[in-house]
Amino acid sequence: MDTLLRTHNKLELVHPPFHGFSKFQNQEVGFGPRKYYHGKRWRYGLVKASGGSTSNALLELVPPVTKKENLEFDLPLYDPLKGVVVDLVVVGGGPAGLAVAQQVSEAGLSVCLIDPLPKLIWPNNYGVWIDEFEAIDLLDCIDTTWSGAVVFVNEDSEKYIGRPYGRVNRKQLKSKMMQKCISNGVKFHQAKVIKVIHEDEKSLLICNDGVTIQANVVLDATGFSRCLVQSDKPYNPGYQVAYGIVAEVEEHPFDLDKMVFMDWRDAHLNGNEELKEKNSKIPTFLYAMPFSSNKIFLEETSLVARPGLRFEDIQERMEARLRHLGIKVKSIEEDERCIIPMGGPLPVLPQRVVGIGGTAGMVHPSTGYMVARTLAAAPIVAKSIVQYLNSERGLSGDDLSAEVWNDLWPIERRRQREFFCFGMDILLKLDLLGTRRFFDAFFDLEPRYVHGFLSSRLFLPELLFFGLSLFSHASNASRIEIVAKGTLPLATMINNLIRDRD
Ligand SMILES: Cc1cc2nc3c(=O)[nH]c(=O)nc-3n(C[C@H](O)[C@H](O)[C@H](O)COP(=O)(O)OP(=O)(O)OC[C@H]3O[C@@H](n4cnc5c(N)ncnc54)[C@H](O)[C@@H]3O)c2cc1C
Repeated sequence: MDTLLRTHNKLELVHPPFHGFSKFQNQEVGFGPRKYYHGKRWRYGLVKASGGSTSNALLELVPPVTKKENLEFDLPLYDPLKGVVVDLVVVGGGPAGLAVAQQVSEAGLSVCLIDPLPKLIWPNNYGVWIDEFEAIDLLDCIDTTWSGAVVFVNEDSEKYIGRPYGRVNRKQLKSKMMQKCISNGVKFHQAKVIKVIHEDEKSLLICNDGVTIQANVVLDATGFSRCLVQSDKPYNPGYQVAYGIVAEVEEHPFDLDKMVFMDWRDAHLNGNEELKEKNSKIPTFLYAMPFSSNKIFLEETSLVARPGLRFEDIQERMEARLRHLGIKVKSIEEDERCIIPMGGPLPVLPQRVVGIGGTAGMVHPSTGYMVARTLAAAPIVAKSIVQYLNSERGLSGDDLSAEVWNDLWPIERRRQREFFCFGMDILLKLDLLGTRRFFDAFFDLEPRYVHGFLSSRLFLPELLFFGLSLFSHASNASRIEIVAKGTLPLATMINNLIRDRD
C-alpha cells in the first residue's frame, strides 16, 4: 500500500523563525531552504518526526496525497501596473487576516490581501465553544454541535462540562469571509511577502514574484510563521503538539452528544512500561469529536511541553489508545499535524507592522485555542485602523501603528496574558499525576471560572479570585505541588506585571 510512511516519514516540522534583535525598519523574510539558528534556544524548539523506523499501522491508512480543496471564486486581482498605494495590506489569508480585510474594506478603505494560496480551504479542524461563535454571529459556520463536553481525569473520574461545543465549518467560514471581501472591493495578490521597507508614511511590501505593493498600513496575519512582526526578546514558547485524524471507524465508545475535551486515561499503556513511563512524565490526552457512530475526529495531544513532543511518540500512543478503546480505523479522510507555540514574550509593542492572530501572540498560552478570540478581536483592529487612517489628527506611519497595537493589547489584556503564561509555566512542570490533580480541581470550579478562563473572559482581579478558588478546590497534594512548582513562575509573573505599566 502506498502509505503515509512514504510521504511523511521525512516530515520535519520546525520552530517558527526567530526574529529577536533583527532590524526594525527594513525587515527581511527568508524563503526557500530556511536558515535555522542552531544555538541552544532553537535546538529546544525543534519538533521533528523523521522516519523510517516507525511501525505505526495507523499511518498506513492516511491517503498519500492529503486533500487540498480550493474555493471556487474568481478573485479580483491587485494590478501592480497601476502602482496605487492601498490603505491596508493584509499579509496572510487565515481567519485572522481575512476577518480584518473584510471589516476594513466594509468601511470603504482600499485593501489588498497577499497570500500564496488565497483560495485554499484552511487545513485545520477548528473546535470552538458555541457561545463564542454566537457572540460574533457565526453560528452558521458551525457544522456539528455537541451539547457538552466530557473530561476523563483518570479511569474512575470523569467531569462533564455543560457548555455546547462545535466544529467550525471552515469551508463555509472562509467562503463567507471571502465573499464579503470580494463584494467590498478587496484585491488579492497570490504570492509570499519576503520583505517590507518602511518610509515615513507608507510601506513597500516586496513579494517573491518580484511585485512591490505600497500601503499606508501593513497587517501581518501570517500565523505562527510570524513573517514581519518583530520580537526583541528570546522566543521561548511551550509547544502544543497534536496528531489528528478524521476517520471512518467500525465503532467507537463515545456518546454522540458530547465531545471529548480531554481523556487523560492511560490504561492503554499497561504492559508497555517504556511508553507508560514516557507518558507519565510528559502526558498526552485524547481530544475527540464524534460525528456519528462510525465517523470521528481523534486527536492525541500534548497540551504543552518544552521541547515539543515528537509526532512519532504521539502517534504511537494514539495507536495504543485506539486499540485499547476498541476503535478500529477503516479509513482516514484527512490528518492534521498540529504545532502551536504557546506563551513566550509578546512581539515588540508597538511596532510599525501591525499584527493579529498567531503572529501577534494571541494564542491562549494555557490552552492553545485562538480562533474565536481572534475573530472577536478583528473588529477592534479593523475599527482602529479605519478610525486612525480617517482621523483628523492625520495619523500615519509609526504613530498610527502604535494606536492600533494599543487597542489590540491594552494593559488589561497584557496582564491577562501574563496570568495565562503563569498557568502555562505550571502546566509545563506537571507530570501525568500532577496534571490530573490540576484538572480535577479546575473542572470542579464554578462554570463562570472554567468558561471564563478557557475563553479569555476573565481579567486580572477575577483571575486572582479564580486562582484562589482553584487552590481551595485542589487536593492537598495538588496544593503542595502548585506551591512548589508555581513559586518561581509566580515571581516571574509578578515581576513582569510590575515592569509592564501603561
Ligand atoms: C492543526 C491546528 C489545529 C488548530 N485547532 C484549533 C482549534 O481547534 N481551535 C482554536 O481556537 N485554535 C486552533 N488552532 C490554533 C489557531 O487558531 C490556528 O493556528 C489559526 O489558524 C491561526 O490563525 P491565523 O489567521 O493567525 O494564521 P493561519 O491560519 O496560520 O494563516 C496564516 C496565513 O498566512 C499565510 N502566509 C504565511 N506566510 C506568508 C507570507 N510570507 N506571505 C503571505 N502569506 C503568508 C499562510 O499561507 C496562511 O494562509 C489550531 C492550530 C493548528 C496548527
